[in-house]
Amino acid sequence: MTRSLTLLGATGSIGASTLDLVRRDRDAWRVEALTAHSSAAELAALAREFGAKIAVVSNEACLPALRAALAGSGIEAAGGRQALCEAATRPVDMTVAAIVGCAGLAPVMAAIERGGTIALANKEALVSAGEVLMQAVAKHGATLLPTDSEHNAIFQCLSGNRLSDVARITLTASGGPLRTWSAEQLAAATPAQAVAHPNWSMGAKISVDSATMMNKGLEYIEAFHLFPVGLDRLDIVVHPQSVIHSMVEFRDRSTLAQLGPSDMRVPIASCLAWPRRMETPLAPLDLAAIGELTFFPPDEERFPATRLAREAIRAGGSAPAILNAANEVAVAAFLAGQIGFTRIAAVVEETLQRSNDSPRPATLDEVLAVDQSARRQALTLLETNALV
Ligand code: NAD
Ligand code: MG
Repeated sequence: MTRSLTLLGATGSIGASTLDLVRRDRDAWRVEALTAHSSAAELAALAREFGAKIAVVSNEACLPALRAALAGSGIEAAGGRQALCEAATRPVDMTVAAIVGCAGLAPVMAAIERGGTIALANKEALVSAGEVLMQAVAKHGATLLPTDSEHNAIFQCLSGNRLSDVARITLTASGGPLRTWSAEQLAAATPAQAVAHPNWSMGAKISVDSATMMNKGLEYIEAFHLFPVGLDRLDIVVHPQSVIHSMVEFRDRSTLAQLGPSDMRVPIASCLAWPRRMETPLAPLDLAAIGELTFFPPDEERFPATRLAREAIRAGGSAPAILNAANEVAVAAFLAGQIGFTRIAAVVEETLQRSNDSPRPATLDEVLAVDQSARRQALTLLETNALV
């Protein structure tokens, strides 16, 4: 049976992994919409290959290039943020949400309001707007399938179990490429060093988040919303091999873990085929070859980001949205060579301290307003060099 698919963020790392799986089973899928921010030529090529009905660039300035690249194909071309949300509301069997950053929030919300089934990779949407998104999921009867590897692992471990029996959920963290670096070395880390992840191949932003451990901080908040067991039952352990993708311990002290290759096609396949299973082209897990699985507590002296995330979700209100927005600004500044690696967490902490403690945003627009004002605050910090 053919199912229809929309892929938000088709030109990214998760987008490529998703399309690789679709390409291997072309008859199983009919592609409705593919989106990208500005890579019009790449998007047009994918839209042609997969016979998409519509291709959307969220950066409207790139629409003429997209139109030109799709000329004669019969594929509709659209541009701008409104067009992106409209594409997300088209009825499909499966939406894969793979835009990076809070930029993905409005289209994810559009897909939720349609009551669709959404494979959610875009963790920043859930961090910024956790309550608003989860309420909308319940109200519109949408299905959220966690695609982030840790949350997908937890989702699989929880299958057939009751949330009330959970004693603890443990997110595993690789620790990133700079895990063993001293504080002095970290201060001098370059973007090239920070994005060189030992286990996973990912987009630049999440790679930096992985190096700062903010990725695990964002995932901690993501887990809080997806699996409401309470913050006291959420834990983080560093596991450099990235073989165990997360674990759930139950009150009888039985722990279930999900293991697999560190390749996002595994959790993506789990979502695409849910509640069944599908083939992936990956080699079987060879534990004897891996040899050793090791575990360490997070070091929040050298990597303060998980502490900042825990504090933000405990504080509640607008703090998680501020944390996320400041991090997006700081990571972009680091990648552009404007600030040092250890300044990323400092910018986030300072933005949180300077932002007014406003109440929890109750609507999408309120979340986006908090996001915008936190971005301005973080940019002001960068421009005035307040942290140097
Ligand atoms: P990426 O940078 O490789 O791709 C991002 C995609 O989003 C691209 O298609 C890009 O065109 C689009 N995009 C970027 N800015 C946009 C904007 N302002 N508006 C609309 N679209 C925009 O990122 P990625 O690594 O594929 O990550 C995507 C999401 O999945 C992130 O939220 C990330 O945290 C999450 N995630 C990624 C991985 C991974 O292995 N890459 C693993 C787990 C979770
Ligand atoms: Mg993850």
